[in-house]
Parts: sequence; structure tokens; C-alpha cells
Amino acid sequence: MPSQRDDCLFCSIAREGAYVNKTKGFVAINDINPKAKVHILIIPERHVDTFRDVAEFPAKEAKRMLEFAAETARDAGLNDYRVLVNVGRSAGQTVFHLHWHVLGGEESADDVPPALATAEADE
Ligand code: 5GP
Ligand code: ZN
Repeated sequence: MPSQRDDCLFCSIAREGAYVNKTKGFVAINDINPKAKVHILIIPERHVDTFRDVAEFPAKEAKRMLEFAAETARDAGLNDYRVLVNVGRSAGQTVFHLHWHVLGGEESADDVPPALATAEADE
């Protein structure tokens, strides 16, 4: 098992959570406070505080993390969805163990939250 912290919520969840999906080194769980119809968290067993430290993942493991996010979304029945990482407190990060949000299940573009819809319209 890669590096873990005894006092970290997501380290404990990675060891013994109620997973919706699992692969070597990674688990996926439903968010306790969903911000979309489907809101899944992709959690590595390896403890790193934030996405800033993503270089600590060996290349194969980093690739597996991305593939696992895509597989988990597909298995949850999602075709269109968002993958999001909050990096640092002022960007909205509240749990300091790297995780990726997979958000989806909205029926139409009208259901996309306004801030994101605006950002997309500006592209
Ligand atoms: P962040 O704000 O760090 O980007 O995301 C942390 C996420 O973890 C939040 O969406 C929050 O609802 C979720 N969360 C916090 N504690 C728990 C928990 O004990 N179980 C689950 N399943 N999700 C949690
Ligand atoms: Zn941790």
C-alpha cells in the first residue's frame, strides 16, 4: 500500500469505504453531499495533499487514475460529465487528500450551473 496518513479521512475511506468502483491503487465513492445528480469522487490510495503534488505518482499510476475516472463515469451511465479538481483552500478544496470530482447526470445544458455555462460560452 502506498503512503497513507493515519489522521486523513480519505486515507481511511480508501482503506475501508463503501466503493462504487475500485482498481489497483484507486477507489471511487459517492460524494456525501452531491452537487449534481451523479457526483463521484476518485480517490487514490497514495496520500498526496493536493493536485500540486501529482508528480509524486509514478507515470503508470497517474495514467491509471485518469483511465479509472473515465471508466467509473462510463460505468455510472454518464456520457457527458465534468471532471474537476479543487486545488487549495481558496479554490474550494476542503479535504487535503487529492481527489477528482466526476459530476454529471444533468439532462440538458440548461441544468449546467450558471458559472460554468458562462465560462463555456466565453471560450
Ligand atoms: P473538495 O471540497 O475538497 O474539493 O471536495 C471534498 C468533497 O468530499 C466534498 O464534495 C464533500 O462533500 C466530500 N466529503 C467530505 N467528507 C466526506 C465523507 O465522509 N464521505 C464522502 N463520501 N464524501 C465526503
Ligand atoms: Zn490521505
